[in-house]
Amino acid sequence: MNFNLHLKCEVCSNTIRLKVYAGYEPKNSFSYSCPECKIRITGHLIWNDNLEESFIKEFSCINAKNTVEFEKESHVLQVATEFYTDKIKKFDPNDPTLYLSPFMMESISFELKRRKQRFVSNVTENFSNDYKVSNRLWQLYKMENYKYLNRQLLSNKFVEPVLLGEILKIDYSDKLLEVLYKPFLPFLIESKKIPELINIRNQLSYLKKNHSAELHQLKIDLEELLNYSEAELILLLDNFSKYYSYIWPIILSTSLNTEDIDEIKEKKGILTTDFQDLKNYYVEAFEVLASALPILLGIQNIKFRKSRNIFHESNVKKFKNINSIIDYHHNVRKKGYKIQFFEEENMFSSYDITKVLNNEIRNSIGHYSYNVESDQQLIHFIDGKKTCNLYLIEFADLLLQTFYATFFTFEVVFFLKNNV
Ligand SMILES: [Zn+2]
Repeated sequence: MNFNLHLKCEVCSNTIRLKVYAGYEPKNSFSYSCPECKIRITGHLIWNDNLEESFIKEFSCINAKNTVEFEKESHVLQVATEFYTDKIKKFDPNDPTLYLSPFMMESISFELKRRKQRFVSNVTENFSNDYKVSNRLWQLYKMENYKYLNRQLLSNKFVEPVLLGEILKIDYSDKLLEVLYKPFLPFLIESKKIPELINIRNQLSYLKKNHSAELHQLKIDLEELLNYSEAELILLLDNFSKYYSYIWPIILSTSLNTEDIDEIKEKKGILTTDFQDLKNYYVEAFEVLASALPILLGIQNIKFRKSRNIFHESNVKKFKNINSIIDYHHNVRKKGYKIQFFEEENMFSSYDITKVLNNEIRNSIGHYSYNVESDQQLIHFIDGKKTCNLYLIEFADLLLQTFYATFFTFEVVFFLKNNV
């Protein structure tokens, strides 16, 4: 079902038609620039639980008003939480998309449509509660409050009750990893990341069997960083819990291999969010993931050369004063250089470090040296002499890659911290 609103800009009085498609997400956010005066207009609409009473439970908008007066509409915008939509376009009464819903226009198989719906409705129904519980249990674990942690693990069915008189035996580190994963499992399963995570676990347990003394030294060298990284990675998961519902089309199309972002990026976009709202999540993810690189590099050195302190020969040539993992941690200050150590080899094949951690994009955001063509949803990143252009949906995909990278990194951090 499509619902039409007429939004009149409070700055220039230009009116646009906002079509909102009722999908599985009850809350529909939108964000666009007024086609006339370019002011940023943002807001949200929440559907009523019972659509027979009235459609809208809550509507709020900054810089434009929902008007019932007849006004000539200059443009039309489609908001749909779960679908890519056309970018802002001129109002044309003969345009068939005015009357068809994104669901009807989507040209994928019925089976895929069903899978998409199941995925979204599963997350919509369970995520917020699962995430609340997982957060609570993690807090109790970090405070070592085992009395209440045990009770919570039992009441949330993470462990089986034991008979009276028997002692509840829990391997806390394993159990808490399971707790932490639970709310995010639908995302990891649908995007087929679970086998990749298992692959990392297998590689790590092989290292433990064969190089345990060296791993232990690495743990001692990086102890502070391990604690810091663990806490910060948890914050990145919290960030994901805040932004995932705005980037559903990207999550769905990349997980289920429906649309190819490269093919549609010029025509299609998303109106549920904009670059302003997403950019800082990328900067934070970049900082945290790049800070954790010494942990990954130490493990990689052990895997390929049996010592945490022996680097790939190309890095030995390029960085002559870096002779140990501690040197790398403390003396390779620029994160861009830290990332370069993964150019020649990367044991974490499913986490393309040099691609996911884009130093130019991070700098461009950090220095506010970017331009946004809002109608096109195109961002020009400028870092010194280097430039790079990404459409909003490409940028959102990059952000999504940092979410998966958080789990790959977390696996390594958690392993070194708890299993070595
Ligand atoms: Zn305006």
